[in-house]
Amino acid sequence: MTRQKNMIVNCPACLEDGSFKIYSSINTTETPEIKESIFNREIFKFSCPNCGEEILVAYNCTYTDPQNRYIVALLSDDEESDESIVKVEGYTLRIVRTINEFVEKIALIEDKIDDKVIELYKIMLEDQFEDERPGAKILGIYYGGRNFEDNSLLFFIITENAENCRAMLSMQTYNAIESQFAASAQKYADISEVNRLWAIGALQTDFGGGTEE
Ligand SMILES: [Zn+2]
Repeated sequence: MTRQKNMIVNCPACLEDGSFKIYSSINTTETPEIKESIFNREIFKFSCPNCGEEILVAYNCTYTDPQNRYIVALLSDDEESDESIVKVEGYTLRIVRTINEFVEKIALIEDKIDDKVIELYKIMLEDQFEDERPGAKILGIYYGGRNFEDNSLLFFIITENAENCRAMLSMQTYNAIESQFAASAQKYADISEVNRLWAIGALQTDFGGGTEE
């Protein structure tokens, strides 16, 4: 069910409290139009009623997509345990901690792209990028969408010196990573946090990421 509730936000600009209408849960069958407000981050935008300041506020939100059989749970607090998240039979569960990750997972579901392959690719991209530009520090790599014309996936690389770049992953390479990983995929069928840390571990154990003799 799509549910809304009020949250009190303390404005960082004027320090006044303001009321913010948030979505504690979203069901895409019931309210498909909300997807657009997720992609443009509108559902996380708090406008201070006192001074007009606009900020993005992360909050706990459970996104259920019955069509693709996915649940994405945003837990806004790092410390928060995931025990409150109930697994639903027949659904893939993903737990994320930031708005960017939340938006990215939903974009991948919409584009029917396997997020495990994406996280593995990002680590490969990180290594390659840092080899090519010693000293460059990557803050994050985000999925930027699927290009059906040249059959590729777009990525944004956010770096410390704000010299941001793009990378393209061809579907051919995507398929190659997927099939290379296929033998281990079953092992991770029940995992709910698919992120950078997961990918580093998986690359080491399943791809022998440089640890083999
Ligand atoms: Zn304010």
